[in-house]
This record gives sequence, C-alpha cells and structure tokens, in this order.
Amino acid sequence: MKTFEELNLIAPVHRAIADEQYETPTPIQAQTVPAALLGRDVLGCAQTGTGKTAAFALPILNRLGQKTRKAMPNHPCVLVLAPTRELAIQIEDSFATYGRHLQVRRALVYGGVSQVSQVRALNRGVHILVATPGRLLDLMNQGHIALDKLEVFVLDEADRMLDMGFLPDLRKIISKLPDQRQSLFFSATMPPKITELSKRLLRNPVSVNVTPRSTSVERIEQQVLFVERKDKLPTLRRILTAGDVDRAIVFSRTKRGANALANKLVRSGITAAAIHGNKSQGARQRALEAFRSNDVQVLVATDVAARGIDIDGVSHVINFDLPVEPEAYVHRIGRTGRAGADGVALSFCTPDERRELRAIEQLIGQKVPIATNQSQPEPSAAQPRIRQNADTPRAADKGAASQTPATRSPNDTSAEADKPKPRRRRRRKGLHPRQRDKQTS
Ligand code: AMP
Repeated sequence: MKTFEELNLIAPVHRAIADEQYETPTPIQAQTVPAALLGRDVLGCAQTGTGKTAAFALPILNRLGQKTRKAMPNHPCVLVLAPTRELAIQIEDSFATYGRHLQVRRALVYGGVSQVSQVRALNRGVHILVATPGRLLDLMNQGHIALDKLEVFVLDEADRMLDMGFLPDLRKIISKLPDQRQSLFFSATMPPKITELSKRLLRNPVSVNVTPRSTSVERIEQQVLFVERKDKLPTLRRILTAGDVDRAIVFSRTKRGANALANKLVRSGITAAAIHGNKSQGARQRALEAFRSNDVQVLVATDVAARGIDIDGVSHVINFDLPVEPEAYVHRIGRTGRAGADGVALSFCTPDERRELRAIEQLIGQKVPIATNQSQPEPSAAQPRIRQNADTPRAADKGAASQTPATRSPNDTSAEADKPKPRRRRRRKGLHPRQRDKQTS
C-alpha cells in the first residue's frame, strides 16, 4: 500500500487527507485501514506518533460517510475509549480534522469537569463518542449513554489503561457492548493481561505491529513565561525576532485582540496575519495561504478560527493569552510538533492568569516548566531580524492583519466573542480604555 488513492476512501475523507497534505499512509495506516474497511477486527501494536489515530479514524469516517445515519440521542454508533483526557481531546480533534467534509456528530466525555455540557451534547445526538472509562461508566449508569446501537468499538492505549487501574472499568464496559460489532484494539505493549483482554474482545483480528516513534505531544517542548500584562507585547517581539522562530501561531483570547496584535507586529516589521471568526471565509483562506506559503511568519489566531489550522512546519505556538477552557491548550499546542516534527509551545502567564494555568496543568497532568531563560523584555532594543519586509503592510493586506479593529456583531455569541473582557485594564494617559483601543489598533 503506497498511496492514499489505493485505500479507496470516499471522496470527503480523501479530501480531508489532501487538506492535511498527507502524501502517503504511515505503516500502521497502510496495514490497518484496508482490513478495517472490510469490517475486520484489528489488533494494533503501536504508539501515538505513528499515525494510529488516522488508522482507526479514517475507516470509521468512511463507514459513517457511506451510509447516512441519524445521530441518535445518547446512542453512539462509534465509541473510542482513551485512558486520559489529553488523549481523548487529541482523538476528538483528529475526528474533527479528518471528518471536516462530513456531517458527523461527535461528543467527548471525560472526568474531572462538570458533566452538564457533556450530557447536553449526548442529548443532541451523537455518531462518534470519545470517552475516558470512568466518566463513560458514570454516564452509562445514569442512563445518559447506551451502547446497544454501537457498530464500532475502539480501545486506544490499552496498556496505559491497565497501568492506570482501568481494567475493572474496561471489563464492565466490554460486557455492555453488542455482540455484532467491529473492534479495533491498540496498545503500545502487549503484557499478558492485555493479550487476554484482546482475546476476549476481538474476533479473528488482523494483527498489525509497527515500530514506535515518540508521541506528538511528547515532542512538544512546553514552557511558561510569567509576565506582566504590559510586558507581553515586548516579550513576544523579542521571541519572534530572536532568530529561532520559523513559523509561529500566536493565540489571542479575543478577536479584537488578535487584530490589534497582528497590526502591532506588522508595524514592528514582523510579517503577521490575523485569523478569527469575524473574518470572511475568503479572508481566512488568504491569511492561511499566506502563512502556509511563508509570506507571513506569524499567524495570530483565536481558538475557534484555529481549529481548522493544520499546517506542518509550525515551529512555535505562543499563547499570548492563556485559554479560558483548558482543553483549548491541548488543541493549541497540537498545532506544532505535527507529523513527527519537534515543536515549542510557549505560554505567557500574567498574575491574573494563574488560575487558567493551574486548570491546564490539572488537565494535562503535569506542571508546565518555567522558561529557563526568562529574561526581561527589551522593548526599545528589540530590532526585528526575521523576515523584515519593506512591504509589510501588503502582507497584512493579503488577508492578513486587518487595519481596522474588528467590530462585534450584536448577535455574536460564539465562544470566541470578545469576552471575557481583559480584567483590570489599567488606564494610561488618562484615556478611557475604549479611546485607547482606538488609538492603538
Ligand atoms: P498519531 O500517531 O495519530 O498521534 O499521529 C501523529 C502525527 O502524525 C499527527 O500530527 C498526524 O497529523 C500526523 N500524521 C498522521 N498520518 C499521517 C500521514 N499519513 N502523513 C503525514 N503525517 C501524518
């Protein structure tokens, strides 16, 4: 199996792969996809970083795209079990990416957070449910999830589930699966208990074994920089002009903030473009194209707009503002370190963003290391070295940084709407914050 054409995937799935600019299937995809498309069970010995998510996501999406099914409330047709919230988020993100040209409804459930929005999503109807075992059982026991309509069951990172003590939960979940189903089972290692579990779960499986590579998130070097709000911009300029940033996505919490920041960078001689929900589809595409083709080095994005961004070679993700939702952090940093490359994720954290940082650390289950060379910004000395473009305003014009601040339509209730407002905005030069915005943007 050398090409994606040979896999005979339906057009919308094929198109998503082309959007991703994947050229050839990875070994696990080449071995798993044809068998899974035929409805066979699969026993895959593979780690994250090998392309295993697409190995199970592509045949599943292919199946869902071939025959229209109503998204039934609380009765998923596909269940993907993952050991950690972080992995569950990554998997759901991959289904969103590979399923972007299909009408497929997804839900994500994991513990440690309120179940309210998860239950709401399940009630709306769901094709694909990505879940961690504890919360799944919890919601099953409460009657929010029934598995009797399940067609495909995926167990990801089975050995990690074992290490984390999920085996009893797994056994309970497996006992509720319908007999008629396809099962795809992935594990990095095969200790005896996992082999036994796989025998119970799988029928005449195709066994696939690939050499592990390191995980995508493991390849991302994460660092936090503690800064004052006023120092964020000079610090960003210093980082972008230090010489080791090839291509960066800078995340801003608000659309207005993204515009203003892109404009300020452009004025400093750094080629930048803004992308957010207030831009037309055409303007977004132009900004992305300019970024993809290296005409602009920095893309300033909001979370919602960034979901579809999948560009290889992004060396840095910089969280200019920390996200309000900790899950967004995982989505954001996953924009770098793609396709086996290394990446750096830097997060600015002001004293009033400490709470968000704690929530992120809780979610990812680790402390984000503090940047070792957290030097002070040198605003006046910072002379941009990279991609200084005498013609930078034109770079901004190419669908890039808008020269006017975004206006918020009254009915804009999207998650990336300009809320929450920056806390404790300090007044400078006696100007009202709104007047100052006008001056600076
Ligand atoms: P995974 O093992 O599923 O976590 O995938 C690791 C990384 O490989 C992800 O960033 C994917 O976007 C990328 N990837 C998956 N399949 C391919 C492919 N066929 N060609 C290039 N990159 C891929």
